Amino acid sequence: MRIPELNNGALLPLAESFYTIQGEGYNTGKAAFFIRLGGCDVGCSWCDAKETWNPGLYPPTPIEKIVDEAVKYKAKSIVITGGEPLTYPLDKLCNLLKKESMQIFLETSGSYPLSGFFDWICLSPKKRKPPVGNIHHLASELKVIIEKEEDLFWAEENRAKAAESTLLYLQPEWSRRVEIMPLIVEYVKNNPAWSISLQTHKYMNIP
Ligand code: SF4
Repeated sequence: MRIPELNNGALLPLAESFYTIQGEGYNTGKAAFFIRLGGCDVGCSWCDAKETWNPGLYPPTPIEKIVDEAVKYKAKSIVITGGEPLTYPLDKLCNLLKKESMQIFLETSGSYPLSGFFDWICLSPKKRKPPVGNIHHLASELKVIIEKEEDLFWAEENRAKAAESTLLYLQPEWSRRVEIMPLIVEYVKNNPAWSISLQTHKYMNIP
């Protein structure tokens, strides 16, 4: 993946930003401003943001411009997502957001070293490019996408690396949700440390 010159995070390839309701995981149902950065080389076959993979498609955007837009809305919560946002150094963006007293939530596969600072880290590990460093231990929630039965082993492998306090979610892969849901339901009934996360924004028809 060719990363554009971004002046150590003063510019970021902004794929889109929008004010909506968080659809997944612990913060489901809460209003937040989403900053979606372009660029991801993990290559999940079922990725629902494939258009973000190539960072070259997105203009390197000054972080001041991103934050100016973010502060216009009532909710003071920001979700930084992608793509894979940790492709880039996020310290400068987080600094600016914190000056505006924003709560910052990160959605990441953890496939690049952690940068920036966050009030909430959602780690969604992917087998194709597993997490690096000690992000498991720092994760507020672990959200594992379940496409087939063997993904439950991957979920447990990651759970073993997480902190005791990390919240645990299994989320059906959207295109397989009908087939895979009974398996997830039974698994959570037998392993109640896990909860089920659904992509509720897709049911609500919102971004
Ligand atoms: S890590 Fe996320 S953005 Fe990257 S390919 Fe996988 S699902 Fe898509």
